[in-house]
Amino acid sequence: MASYEMVVGLEVHAQLATESKLFCSCPTDGFGAPPNSRICPVCTGQPGVLPVLNRRAAELAFRAAAALGCRIAPLSIFARKNYFYPDLPKAYQISQYELPFSEHGGLEIRDKEGHTQRVRIHRIHMEEDAGKLLHAVGSEKLDYSLVDFNRAGTPLVEIVSEPDIRSSDEAYAYLTALKEILQYAGVSNCNMEKGEMRCDANVSLRPVGAEKFGTRAEIKNLNSSHNVKLALDYEFARQAEILDSGGRVVQETRLWDAERGATASMRSKEEAHDYRYFPDPDLLPLHADAAWVERVKASVPELPAQRRARLASEFGLSDYDAEVLSADKDLGDYFLAAKPEKAFAKTLSNLMTSELLARLNAENLPKAEAQGKIKPGILAELAQVVAEGKISSKIAKEVFARLWDGKMAGPDAHGGIMAAIEKQGLAQVSDEGQIKAWIEEALAANPKAAEDLRGGKERAAGSIVGAVMKLSKGKANPALVNRLIKEAVKA
Ligand SMILES: [Zn+2]
Repeated sequence: MASYEMVVGLEVHAQLATESKLFCSCPTDGFGAPPNSRICPVCTGQPGVLPVLNRRAAELAFRAAAALGCRIAPLSIFARKNYFYPDLPKAYQISQYELPFSEHGGLEIRDKEGHTQRVRIHRIHMEEDAGKLLHAVGSEKLDYSLVDFNRAGTPLVEIVSEPDIRSSDEAYAYLTALKEILQYAGVSNCNMEKGEMRCDANVSLRPVGAEKFGTRAEIKNLNSSHNVKLALDYEFARQAEILDSGGRVVQETRLWDAERGATASMRSKEEAHDYRYFPDPDLLPLHADAAWVERVKASVPELPAQRRARLASEFGLSDYDAEVLSADKDLGDYFLAAKPEKAFAKTLSNLMTSELLARLNAENLPKAEAQGKIKPGILAELAQVVAEGKISSKIAKEVFARLWDGKMAGPDAHGGIMAAIEKQGLAQVSDEGQIKAWIEEALAANPKAAEDLRGGKERAAGSIVGAVMKLSKGKANPALVNRLIKEAVKA
C-alpha cells in the first residue's frame, strides 16, 4: 500500500451568518426549531413566487472570497441545478455554475512541525440549501419520510479546493484553517454539529511519482473534520486493495457511515449534464460594483495567520503560544484587549493558556464569555505583578480562581490589583521576623537538610526553601527567603 499516493480535493459548504434566507425573508434560526416553522411560499417553491437576492448574503460570500485571496468576478450568474428529490421543493436548486462569483484563491495549511503549504481554491459559489428528510421520530422508525423545509433556502457558499491535498492529516489541517478564516472574517459560524459546515471529498489514488490522477470516488455525508480524516483513511485502504488486486476503481458517489466506520456505494456519479444547468430566468445577473467590492475587501479583518505573526513579533510570544491564542478569535481578542506590555505578555499568555482555558473548558463556556468573567485589563494587571515578582505564580493561581468565582472584587481605582490582593490576605510576606521564624521551623523539621546546609552543601537549601514556602502558604518573598536561609546557617 505504501506505493500509492492519496489525491484529495474538498468541497466545503459553509452556511453564511445571515439572519434571513438567501432569496426570502424567512429566518435562518431553524435548527432545533419546530419543523416547517421557518418557511414561506418562496423557500417552499410555491407557484408564482419570485426570489430576491439577500444583499447581506452576497456581502458575506464576497468577503469569504476576499479572505481566501480569490479573484472576484464583476459578473456572475445564478443557475438552476435540476434534480428530483423530496427535500428540494422546486425540483431545482439555485446555485452558480458557469459563472461563479469568485475563483482562484488559496490558503496556507500547517503541519505539526510548523511547515506551511498552500492549498489552492478552485472556485467559490453561492447556493441555497435544501430541506431535511426525517425517517424517524425520536427512536421510532417510520415506514414513510417526513420533510422539514426550515433549512431550505439557507444561504451557503460552496468552497471547492484544487486536488492539492495528499493525506488525511492535510485534509484535517485544511478544514481547520478554513474554519478559522471563515470564523475570523465573520462569514460563517462553522458549527459542524449544527450542519453549518459540511464537507464532501473527492479521493483518488495514484502510484507514487505518477502525474496522472486515478479514478476518483466522491465521499458524502462528512459532518466533522474527524470523520473526514477517518473516511479518507478508509477510502485509501479500499482503493489500494482494489488496485493491488488488479481491479479498477469505479467513479461513483459513496456515503460515509460513521457508525460502521466505512463508506458504501450510493450511486454512480452524475455528470454535470445530468443536472441540466441553465441560467435562472427569475434572477438578474449579479453585477459586483467595483466600489462595493472594495468596501467588502476592506471589511476583511485581521486573519489568523496575520494575527499569529503579530503576536510573535509585537509581543515576543513563542510560536506555540501565538498559535494557541490565534486559533480562536475570541481568545486572541481577549489577549489584545488586555493590552499587555511586552515585559509581561508571556506571563499573561501563560495565565490564559493554563488557568483561563482550563476554566472555560471545565465549565464548557464559549471563549467569548471570558471577558465577562474577568476583565482583560485585570488579568493583565495580575500578569504584571507576577512578572515583577510581587507575587508568586502559585498565589496568582489563587487570585485567578477568586476573581473567576466572583469571590474577590476586581481592583478599583484605589491601588490596583496589589491592594485587592492584600485585602484578601494573599500578599507576599516580606516581614523578616516572620520569615526567620518559618526558617527556624523548617530547619528544625528537616535536620538532615539543615546539617548538609551547615556543612556547605548549598543544594540542600532547596528543600528548606520548599518547606518555608509551604509554611507560608506560598506567600513568603522568595528572594528574602533565600538570603535569610544563608544567614541562618552561617550564624
Ligand atoms: Zn422563505
